[in-house]
Amino acid sequence: MKFISTRGGECVTGAQAIVQGIAEDGGLFVPETFPPVSEAELEEMLSMSYAERAAAVLHKYLDEYDYDGLKAACEQAYSKFEEGDAAPLVKIDSSLYMLELFHGPTCAFKDLALTLLPYLLRKGCDICGIREQVLILVATSGDTGKAALEGFKDAPGVKIMVFYPNDGVSKMQKLQMATQEGGNVNVVAVRGNFDACQSAVKAIFTSEACKEELKKKGYVLSSANSINFGRLAPQIAYYFSAYLDLVSSAQIKMGDKVNFAVPTGNFGNILAAYYAKRMGLPVGKLICASNRNNVLTDFFDTGVYDKRREFFKTTSPSMDILISSNLERLLFELSDRSAVRVSMRMEKLAKEGVYELYDDEREAVQKEFWADFCDEDETVETIYEFFEEYQYPMDTHTACAMFAASNYMAENKKEGAPMVVVSTASPYKFPQAVMYAITGNDIKDSFKAIKHLNIATAMKVPASLSKLRDKPVRFTAVADKSALYPAVLAFVNGAR
Ligand SMILES: *Cc1c(COP(=O)(O)O)cnc(C)c1O
Repeated sequence: MKFISTRGGECVTGAQAIVQGIAEDGGLFVPETFPPVSEAELEEMLSMSYAERAAAVLHKYLDEYDYDGLKAACEQAYSKFEEGDAAPLVKIDSSLYMLELFHGPTCAFKDLALTLLPYLLRKGCDICGIREQVLILVATSGDTGKAALEGFKDAPGVKIMVFYPNDGVSKMQKLQMATQEGGNVNVVAVRGNFDACQSAVKAIFTSEACKEELKKKGYVLSSANSINFGRLAPQIAYYFSAYLDLVSSAQIKMGDKVNFAVPTGNFGNILAAYYAKRMGLPVGKLICASNRNNVLTDFFDTGVYDKRREFFKTTSPSMDILISSNLERLLFELSDRSAVRVSMRMEKLAKEGVYELYDDEREAVQKEFWADFCDEDETVETIYEFFEEYQYPMDTHTACAMFAASNYMAENKKEGAPMVVVSTASPYKFPQAVMYAITGNDIKDSFKAIKHLNIATAMKVPASLSKLRDKPVRFTAVADKSALYPAVLAFVNGAR
């Protein structure tokens, strides 16, 4: 399978796409075709473990990686998850399920991909014959950074540097990153919001001068952000697995449609669901849930993507994003894979902050996606009401998806397809906000909030979070967004 850039020209192997992260022309790598999965293959996957299902899906795209190697890597990666299941499906009632993706080492769904990416990257370097060290740069709205640091810590031949918006992540997220262990890691807070952070990092990736200089020092750049296809591929797997779990537990029959509601920021998670559908998984509607930063809701409703709006800091910080990078991959499909049209729109977005779909594209996208957003009060209410009714605590991001899913189901009562709400973080990752929603108590200290939340919900506290309390803070640097590259150079030159 070959991969092509959404902005034209470049055509590479899967291994190259993963090692490079982003295309030379600034576009994103997408598979040349969507590899089909037949109903017979789905039947075969029913009896597989999660790791085997994931390896089967990955191998469809990454055919130059050998299947046994992928399977061993998936088994190793997902053995790091609590309770042996990387993506358990929890039944709420006969029409509503939660896909819990937060049982990994850092308690967010990013772990599903980032526990595996180190293997995909190392093997990719082998396949491509790359001997340089790999320098991974990450811009994070909170959860990717920690998951990437944890995935790559002390990985041989790799250095990783994470940038996060100084005032744009939760206390727990900040602490998770600032206390990161490992001899090959670095973390820098950036003055500005996530979009500024992401643009500054992307500028390094697409600068020939930077790449040249780093190459001289013995480094090639790669990305652990969801622009990297190596992030996307493992995410496709859990949509398959959720579907197969519904079939094998006789909740649905093979071939029945299932809807997914996904809390969305950079559009990576929900794009993986769309890819699963394009491969033949019987998916109905994809519910795109935003928080108060509702640029995507407006996009799906009107066909106009307009980032020229106020940016809000919310209690679901991993979705505080106005430029959803992976939407570029959807645009590519919507425009019948027209690299010219994608380039034109991305340029318009960069220059004017806005672009617009054609009418037929808008109508096509509305058949696949349904969008809604959840403001701060609605987030609190959703967590509260759901806990009251089902004693099921959920985090602030997941609450946005639940809110949107409920609205969708209320509007489409007759449709009858089951809804799977994708739960992207442990409630303990945002303990103050969840505690406040459930009890009305506003607790300033994160660890006190964890303790009280545990008493209120009886849900087990993930060890990785309670342990943070006693870990020393290692990283305190704050930089201007114009000064990221000098910080990168200092890092590769050995200073921290
Ligand atoms: C990253 C993240 C999201 C958004 O996912 P995208 O792939 O960026 O759309 C939602 N919830 C949580 C908890 C996250 O960490």
